[in-house]
Amino acid sequence: MTDDQAKRLKEMRTFIEPFRVEPGRRVRLAKDFDPGYHADFVKKQDAEETLQRGVRLLAEYQARLAAQDTYALLVIFQAMDAAGKDGTIRHVMSGVNPQGVEVTSFKVPSAEEMDHDYLWRAAKRLPARGMIGIFNRSYYEEVLVVRVHPQILAGQKLPPKAKGRDVWERRFREINDWERYLVDNGIRIVKLFLNVSRAEQKERFLARVDDPERNWKFSAADIRERQYWDAYQKAFAEMLSATSTEWAPWHVIPADRKWFMRIAAGAVILDAIIDLDPKFPVASEEARTEMFKARDELLAEG
Ligand code: AMP
Ligand code: MG
Repeated sequence: MTDDQAKRLKEMRTFIEPFRVEPGRRVRLAKDFDPGYHADFVKKQDAEETLQRGVRLLAEYQARLAAQDTYALLVIFQAMDAAGKDGTIRHVMSGVNPQGVEVTSFKVPSAEEMDHDYLWRAAKRLPARGMIGIFNRSYYEEVLVVRVHPQILAGQKLPPKAKGRDVWERRFREINDWERYLVDNGIRIVKLFLNVSRAEQKERFLARVDDPERNWKFSAADIRERQYWDAYQKAFAEMLSATSTEWAPWHVIPADRKWFMRIAAGAVILDAIIDLDPKFPVASEEARTEMFKARDELLAEG
């Protein structure tokens, strides 16, 4: 790493530090995290260039991750509707080799999925070594939408004991344990909560109605879900408090300015993959000797 790169890396780490949820901290979303925050030293007019630099670096590190074939990176996105999950994924991953990434969007569970434990469908989509896996929503919906709407839990085919009052505490523990197992086995986990304000969500819903090209994104159900805003904020705060761990911490990304959200989310992902420090495998002396022999044969063909 050159001095200049080391300086940039240090700056990036300072930049993302305020977004990290300290493990064990009790999060009060409205007080602790401002959806409109933007660091003064990150200027909107430089945003595109900054993002592209990050995108290029991510592509470079992904190539090493694939060649090393030891670690995987799992990036989880959770947010309220219209916070910008899709756009952020599109922009941040735009430079990465498509063969190295798998994106999964988790919807309302299917009949087959309902016949399994709640981590089953996520386990099936975990990234293989060398891959980047993106979860657009995830098993965290099991302590979010399912918590906000008790009838969803009531409809799950669980044994009665697993629906008891301690269900959320238990799910937090199960998720933490499972993530620890994944990290121990080489899957690095990045968890991003895109934190949009209620006012900005309203603006984005209105834009979806007004702009014909965005109509497809609009659903009247999203507006109904907005009535549960406070219940969601509470569920998110409890999720962040209980499941930000040393091995898989949450980052709360300010989401009211799209350009800032993309840079911030990209920086957290980049930091994680740089921290893994994946390296191209170095060929052994024997392998090198073999290679040179093969090269001599090739050249002898004339
Ligand atoms: P979208 O991401 O807009 O396509 O919507 C997907 C929908 O699936 C959202 O309303 C989620 O709340 C819902 N969803 C995702 N996972 C679950 C789950 N485990 N249980 C119930 N609903 C879910
Ligand atoms: Mg939706």
